[in-house]
Amino acid sequence: MMKTATLGRTGIQVSRLCFGTLVLGPLQENLPVEKGADLLLEAMEAGIDFFDTAEIYGTYPYMRRALKRNAGRKNITIAAKSYAHDAKGAAKSLEHARQGMDVDVVDLFLLHEQESEYTLAGHQAALDHYLECRQKGMIRAVGLSTHCIAGVLACAERPELEVVHPLINRTGLGIQDGTIDRMLKAVKKVHDQGKGVYSMKALGGGNLMGSYAQSLGFVLDLDCVDAVAIGMKNSAEIEANRSFLKNRSISEITMQRIRSIPRKLHIDPWCTGCGNCVELCRQKALFIQKSRDGSPKAEVFSERCILCGYCSRACANFAIKIF
Ligand code: SF4
Ligand code: SF4
Repeated sequence: MMKTATLGRTGIQVSRLCFGTLVLGPLQENLPVEKGADLLLEAMEAGIDFFDTAEIYGTYPYMRRALKRNAGRKNITIAAKSYAHDAKGAAKSLEHARQGMDVDVVDLFLLHEQESEYTLAGHQAALDHYLECRQKGMIRAVGLSTHCIAGVLACAERPELEVVHPLINRTGLGIQDGTIDRMLKAVKKVHDQGKGVYSMKALGGGNLMGSYAQSLGFVLDLDCVDAVAIGMKNSAEIEANRSFLKNRSISEITMQRIRSIPRKLHIDPWCTGCGNCVELCRQKALFIQKSRDGSPKAEVFSERCILCGYCSRACANFAIKIF
């Protein structure tokens, strides 16, 4: 049996393991829809009933297909996110999620990547729209996702926000404004207030795979984290995570299969060195330097990169990939 948890005071019960869909879509693996839906269904069969999506991930078609094939067999909870800052954009994003996944109600709708009280204030009109839609029954709970301690603390000042999706991992990789200890203090505060917490990047976007058990165990042992979202792009990863949640162990064969699939950010030779991706990367993991022929080209500090794939949307030349 998959372990379950209730997301704070929302009353929404979910599997502790949440399927992060980012890896399936165009920003990362870019799987054909049917193949991505196969994996989502496999996860559902394994007891995972919580799925994290976002407008920017381009993964609504995968969820739509999986939900259609799963029709009526399981209760599924879906989180969606949007960068919209005004009411018009928020309405468009919510409709995109509802129509894109063919659902009447989006369970969790989050303001994507909020940095602090200031960015939250800048998204007030969008937030007001989502709260209105919650009243109308189109959304069950509203919240935010963040890579920042200040984003979590901003949430603490807003009783209307019921769910937080913060970046938490053992080493603090990817936290933009402080240490893992300070992040956990902030997360405990919002969790004690009754907000639901589901974390992201427990494995640092793949960078902590070498210490898989220690890193995933660290987040699972936190009382202030209800559920843990992990990106899964193949059957081996689904099986490993399912098994680890169940009994804190995975078979050596499965571990070897996972470790044999390293993931890295690649920048293709046709990069023009325009620098757009460098500006977009909040981890400061990209820089421009002269290549051998003297032309500028983007390069990556692998140790800083959390493999979020967000930089690829800045590249008009499709020169950035993760594989
Ligand atoms: S380089 Fe790209 S994939 Fe890596 S952290 Fe920055 S935005 Fe994310
Ligand atoms: S946005 Fe694309 S072309 Fe521009 S520097 Fe980055 S990888 Fe190169």
